Amino acid sequence: MSDKFDVIVIGAGPGGYVAAIRAAQLGLKTACVEKWVDDKGGAVLGGTCLNVGCIPSKALLESTHQFHNAQHADVHGIQVSGDVTMDVKAMVARKDKIVGNLTMGVAGLFKANGVTLLQGAGKLHGGKKVEVTAADGTSNTYDAENVILASGSIPVEIPPAPLTEGLILDNEGALNINETPKRLGVIGAGVIGLEMGSVWARLGTEVTVLEAMDDFLPAADKDVAKEAAKIFKKQKLDIKVGARCTGTEIIDGKEVKVKYTDAKGDQEIVVDKLIVAVGRKPQTQGLLADDSGVSLDERGFIFVNEQCQTGVPGVYAIGDSVRGPMLAHKASEEGIMVADIVAGHHAQINYDVIPSIIYTHPELAWVGKTEQELKAEGVKIKVGKFPFAANGRAMAANDTDGFVKLIACEETDRVLGVHIVGGIASELIGQAAIAMEFCSSAEDLQMTVFAHPTVSEAIHEAALAADGHAIHMANRKKR
Ligand code: FAD
Ligand code: NAD
Repeated sequence: MSDKFDVIVIGAGPGGYVAAIRAAQLGLKTACVEKWVDDKGGAVLGGTCLNVGCIPSKALLESTHQFHNAQHADVHGIQVSGDVTMDVKAMVARKDKIVGNLTMGVAGLFKANGVTLLQGAGKLHGGKKVEVTAADGTSNTYDAENVILASGSIPVEIPPAPLTEGLILDNEGALNINETPKRLGVIGAGVIGLEMGSVWARLGTEVTVLEAMDDFLPAADKDVAKEAAKIFKKQKLDIKVGARCTGTEIIDGKEVKVKYTDAKGDQEIVVDKLIVAVGRKPQTQGLLADDSGVSLDERGFIFVNEQCQTGVPGVYAIGDSVRGPMLAHKASEEGIMVADIVAGHHAQINYDVIPSIIYTHPELAWVGKTEQELKAEGVKIKVGKFPFAANGRAMAANDTDGFVKLIACEETDRVLGVHIVGGIASELIGQAAIAMEFCSSAEDLQMTVFAHPTVSEAIHEAALAADGHAIHMANRKKR
């Protein structure tokens, strides 16, 4: 088959499938290439995010959070007769059902928008030719006016902890543990380590997290990292910082001895399962033919400019395979931007306002710069902080851990960063992102009417606190 497309997207993750749908909506003849197949040979759409990332992890986090709440329902006066128990297999099956529905939904959206799905591994050749090789080895080559590379990322593996079926797992294996381990080890106290560690700690597993760096959550504002460390300790997540894994040993085919070094010297723990969550790397193997003209940067990411253009006119790259945070919403927005540019529209992304969230409980969420970054840049700032313990709705929900911290410029009053630890921080951070996208000042937020009683009022109060005017907290600024 020989055919020419206006746009060929390689990869159907949240970057690629969104780019393909947008391009088709803009009237461009669009194809999307995906190599991932299921047991029956059908294309698996939605990439890491829908299949082994954002959605399945959040399904497990939600189930175990509900379990925790059911166990503590007595605070509301609810009496549960007998023990609250978790059927882990049913929890995993529910997660799989949600994933199935969503990936089928992407196939439906492709059909509805007229996106052609090309099943197989895509390789970019010079002259914007895309070779697609199906699982049975047959291949076809297609011409494209524009190519969008959206090949995503894969987990980093480390030599001291080689993946071992059922015992040493990457993030995909971690999502399919189907009985509660007594002891779980996690290498890496990053986003996956904290989210998956929380899932199992809530079900009673003893969780030990080994983090090589001396700092906990170095990308977060220090107040957020400090508060989070305090709360995770209460939740019995044993996070050991400055602990570098040096080796593993499988004992009798059923346990894992994990060796590590820390400030005190050589140490070891024995666990029933070990999750390796030490970061992800761009997936570019087999993607670029020698004559493609596209270059990688020194860390193996596809080299692009702010508008996701590679060095080859008409070839773009987006999502986890390019610089910037490895986040689904960043990948999707880049997909939309590139489709708009290809269709001849002006488009850009404000990379300064991309929210980050860790979906533990409480959740950790932030957008913009941290207090430490702003001080290092010499920006004069004012900080307003408001605890959920003083918010009526949070009290009603029995969810009072954490705070909203708002940072504004002392000279211009512009909001420069918002950092939240709180039960529904993931929902609140969107309000902060909208405010920052609209270049809001702290005063704009102070003058906005927030409904009562809502958890969002903590954002209002934090904005007021930046000028010493929070109502429900003693914070008068000395003048
Ligand atoms: P991917 O989703 O990786 O998709 C790339 C696709 O391209 C894949 O389907 C792959 O098979 C295909 N592909 C690759 N090479 C080829 C080729 N040569 N030919 C054809 N197809 C190819 N982010 C968030 O924002 N929020 C979260 O809560 C969140 N939770 C996560 C939880 C976990 C456990 C993990 C692992 C990640 C999580 N992420 C989260 C990150 C998020 O999943 C990624 O940032 C996002 O999926 C990146 O999208 P992408 O389209 O760039 O790549
Ligand atoms: P990460 O970069 O968040 O954390 C990896 C951690 O492992 C770091 O703290 C690092 O210092 C540590 N580490 C590295 N090597 C180590 C070693 N040898 N021993 C001990 N610790 C070591 O990576 P991740 O948790 O694997 O997640 C991968 C990506 O997926 C992230 O970049 C994130 O953006 C994305 N993700 C996002 C979400 C979300 O948005 N909620 C959830 C999960 C994953």
